[in-house]
Amino acid sequence: MTRSVTVRAPGKVNLQLSVGPGREDGFHPLATVFQAVELYETVTATPRDDDAIVLTVSSAPGAHVDISGVPIDASNIAARAAIALRREFGLSDGVDLEIVKGVPVAGGMAGGSADAAAALLACAEAWDVGASRTQLDEIAATLGSDVPFILHGHTAVGLGRGDQITPAMSRGRFHWVLATQREGLSTADVYGEFDRMIAEGEREAVDPEISDAIMVALVAGDAQGLAEALVNDLQPAALSLAPHLQSVMDAALEADALGVMVSGSGPTVAALARSRQHALAIAAHLTVSDTADAVVTASGPAPGAVLVT
Ligand code: ATP
Repeated sequence: MTRSVTVRAPGKVNLQLSVGPGREDGFHPLATVFQAVELYETVTATPRDDDAIVLTVSSAPGAHVDISGVPIDASNIAARAAIALRREFGLSDGVDLEIVKGVPVAGGMAGGSADAAAALLACAEAWDVGASRTQLDEIAATLGSDVPFILHGHTAVGLGRGDQITPAMSRGRFHWVLATQREGLSTADVYGEFDRMIAEGEREAVDPEISDAIMVALVAGDAQGLAEALVNDLQPAALSLAPHLQSVMDAALEADALGVMVSGSGPTVAALARSRQHALAIAAHLTVSDTADAVVTASGPAPGAVLVT
């Protein structure tokens, strides 16, 4: 009997993204704090009789995710996850992967990484490979530096490339407003601009360390303290490539957001609110300001990849 398995995986924001100087091989050491938020991708894996990996991609109802830039060939990170799992377990099975996206594409919120984490878990279950969590973590790290965190979810510190994950204590809920842009920013381009700014002396890069202020605010469930401690070393580079993001940030501050930053490599802007009601008020103000293409609210932390069927 063919069984379909559906897995849901969250997007994320980086509460801290401290980036060290790039090395010759392009590696940038990171000290990051991730928080998974309640915007979800779902991936349904259905085993096939042949060895093909066949993808379909759509937007979650009401999410209006622009899927035009998402490949449906073997370059899709969900397909790469299935291929990596197959290789690890010496299989040649095929699978249909139905991806339903609720996280903006190329928005710095790890939507692709969520597809990879969800596809990994869904295929492992659908093919019944008997993978341990450690084996899935190891494959996840080969797919992308955010994938191990998305498998685990909640709040975590990431070191190295961001793939060496340690869970972090966090109390209560944090309410986010996420303002997205139709035109994405390539993570590679943002790192390129970061490197240029360092090389030309416009900014400095130091060895990154986890911020005590963020850890203290998380443990206390202190949104104001967290807002004051938010760090994103990629923000100047993202703003240099996409200067209009400053007007999104200004609009969020006009609506009394506790803090605002570019999310990851952007162009999504994340604003932290006092409460769910305050998040809705900021979202309304951002929508009227017409500075973003779409505005959503989401709270965090959210669980990592989980089976929903
Ligand atoms: P991160 O926050 O991890 O840097 P992101 O959220 O900025 O990632 P993604 O949405 O993961 O960016 O996608 C970046 C690019 O990867 C897309 O523009 C697309 O070309 C390619 N891609 C490959 N697979 C996927 C996928 N399953 N979903 C979205 N994009 C994908």
